[in-house]
Amino acid sequence: MKIILANPRGFCAGVNMAIESLERALEIYGTPLYVYHEIVHNRPVVERFKKLGVVFVDHIDEIPPGSTVLYSAHGVAPVIRAASAARRLQAIDATCPLVTKVHKEAVRFAREGYTILLIGHEGHDEVIGTMGEAPENIVLVQDEQEAENITFPEGTRLAYLTQTTLSVEDAERIISILRRRFPHLVGPAKEDICYATQNRQEAVREIVPEADVVIVLGSQNSSNSMRLAELARMRGKPAYLVDRVSEIPESALQGHETVLITAGASAPEEMVQQCVDYLVARFGATVESRVVREENVHFPLPKELRLIERGVTG
Ligand code: SF4
Repeated sequence: MKIILANPRGFCAGVNMAIESLERALEIYGTPLYVYHEIVHNRPVVERFKKLGVVFVDHIDEIPPGSTVLYSAHGVAPVIRAASAARRLQAIDATCPLVTKVHKEAVRFAREGYTILLIGHEGHDEVIGTMGEAPENIVLVQDEQEAENITFPEGTRLAYLTQTTLSVEDAERIISILRRRFPHLVGPAKEDICYATQNRQEAVREIVPEADVVIVLGSQNSSNSMRLAELARMRGKPAYLVDRVSEIPESALQGHETVLITAGASAPEEMVQQCVDYLVARFGATVESRVVREENVHFPLPKELRLIERGVTG
């Protein structure tokens, strides 16, 4: 068996920043420390922080007044910020700057009188946060069929935005339908699907023809991880999206010569290495690391933490 390790894979700059923010906040404030939603969509990461005493909540009113709360990398709607302020919570905003960019675009388009078509998945934390910026002005478009069927009164000014972690190919198909149906549609100055999502998809797209089977380390609720597994399956290759290698039935790997391993943007490298170690020990696999694109992106910690580190406590 040969393993091809895709590069880039795993943690992106937004996830690194969010996890580092939570680690620093734990050092500074100790527990109990609250996080609104999962800090990133990865079960092993969330389990690790739970063991350290971090409490993950889905509603701000679960948090005792006066406590400290972190907003996750996926961002929050303004109503959540207002609810936090009403409870006198000290908020640390670990929203990925590339999600914040989409929020700002939504606010700008809404202010300019556009109706915004947000291409994304209903119920995803990021989509809920973005829609909350201009709930009266945003309509969700989830797939090509919805793009074909959606209608607006004559003269409606239309703009589109996308979730940051979509399939590049799916988004392009949906946008081209919308452009055909609404020729005056405008979009963001720079596309919303983030560099990390694009690069991880590009690596799988390039390597997958050589693979017999694909393993994606990542959680089932991680949008960008799911897209990687889908991409492989659409090219006719079996793909397993798992948090840990132990979740793959051994029979699924037997008899395969080439295994492509990648990881979603929220999956720790430790999970990749455990997977590699297992395949080496169990099947005598050799390992080849394949670099499709270099990445060198870094985001600073949230300003609330930077101010504390500089001794400014407000
Ligand atoms: S996947 Fe993209 S948008 Fe999401 S946290 Fe990472 S860099 Fe930010």
